[in-house]
Amino acid sequence: MKRIVVDRVICLKAGQCYYLQPSVFKADSQGWPEIIIEQLEEEDDLEAAEDAAEICPSGAITIEDA
Ligand code: SF4
Repeated sequence: MKRIVVDRVICLKAGQCYYLQPSVFKADSQGWPEIIIEQLEEEDDLEAAEDAAEICPSGAITIEDA
């Protein structure tokens, strides 16, 4: 099982993750990314999370073993 980890220290709040992959991320009231799906059980969710990790401009998103 995999899970998403966002490093808020380096996140720029640019929003690509939640604009482009809204199935796994959403914005909180202050523009921080919030992870919707904690455990990436579905292949589609894992692919969406991996795409987000690739497009994140600061490299703040990693996919780790849960
Ligand atoms: S794409 Fe990366 S930098 Fe932008 S809000 Fe998401 S985690 Fe933060």
